Amino acid sequence: MIKFLDLHAQYQSIKADIDLAIASVIRETAFVGGSYAQTFENQFAALIGANHCVGVGNGTDAIEIAIEALGLPRGSEIIVPGNSFIASSEAVTRSGHKVVFADVDEDSYVLTADDVRAKLSDKTSAIIAVHLYGHPCDMDSLVDLAKEKGLKIIEDCAQAHLAECRGRRVGSLGDIATFSFYPGKNLGAYGDAGAITTNNEALALKARKIANHGRVAKYDHEFEGRNSRLDGIQAAILSAKLPHLDSWTETRIQIADYYLDALKGIQGLLLPVRQPWAKQAYHLFVVRTEQRNALKEYLAQKGIETGIHYPIALPKLAAYEYLGQGCESLFVNRSDSLLLSLPIGEHLSLQEAGVVADAVRSFFGTCVS
Ligand SMILES: *Cc1c(COP(=O)(O)O)cnc(C)c1O
Repeated sequence: MIKFLDLHAQYQSIKADIDLAIASVIRETAFVGGSYAQTFENQFAALIGANHCVGVGNGTDAIEIAIEALGLPRGSEIIVPGNSFIASSEAVTRSGHKVVFADVDEDSYVLTADDVRAKLSDKTSAIIAVHLYGHPCDMDSLVDLAKEKGLKIIEDCAQAHLAECRGRRVGSLGDIATFSFYPGKNLGAYGDAGAITTNNEALALKARKIANHGRVAKYDHEFEGRNSRLDGIQAAILSAKLPHLDSWTETRIQIADYYLDALKGIQGLLLPVRQPWAKQAYHLFVVRTEQRNALKEYLAQKGIETGIHYPIALPKLAAYEYLGQGCESLFVNRSDSLLLSLPIGEHLSLQEAGVVADAVRSFFGTCVS
């Protein structure tokens, strides 16, 4: 059995640290916010290379709060890539803006400046740059375009902890950035958690107030905010995991490099392309084939779990029927039936990756070398 995700195995490998972290928070009853949340925020900001980090309840809230903190004109349009998890676009609508879906690059599956250009209007106020599957967007060209057009950039880094664009870590390359620590993410809590990072002090402060009832002191509320705070147990768990993130990411890259080599040259199978300027965090390793469903079934029969990210492109979801963007002839609208995510993660050995690669090759009738 080759699992897609194995959170229990990860826990076993760092059990003493996790148990100690949880016990410490309980002992100090630092359940919401508090010293553990603050410590994690400082550690994470330093790791990402951002001046500020604000812990919040989850990655979806993080996007919503980030948009709100930017104070964009109400009802303005925000450009979102058509292939992502719904959180990327949901947050746009919920914060009172209009979603405009853009296409993505066919090699690396992320939004490019050209994709954004194709969707610009005089109502466009911002771009959600989703570093999907852990591949960074080309932030240099997005930032140039944003400057030229007066747009804000929100980086959605939910799948891209430690990914780099030309040697710089994602999370401080736009105006504001958001992270998810959902358990299955590359850095995952034991429940919901998220964070906002930015180099802009005023934005960080605004985001912190929004996430904590608009308050400046205990019962002194400057405006109506909401409740979306990082809880202490999650923060302590994240701090305990942080020292391992680099090596877990390196393992993901090794497995991806192995797949890229072992699966090359197969007729009918397209591999993801990592741009030469990118360090990809490989939250997912997504291949493309016309025989997606048959391959998925074949691998399942061999005990190999796979996933689909995402089976229905965002513009085609029932939730977005009202926008009428589902029938546009975009790559995202026609590629969703071809995508298959192979197992990748720190739980996988290179030998297991070999078993996966052999099974894929045998499906396509290519000799196992
Ligand atoms: C997981 C994810 C989110 C949402 O994060 P949650 O913590 O689950 O709310 C947002 N964007 C992307 C691209 C994601 O993968």
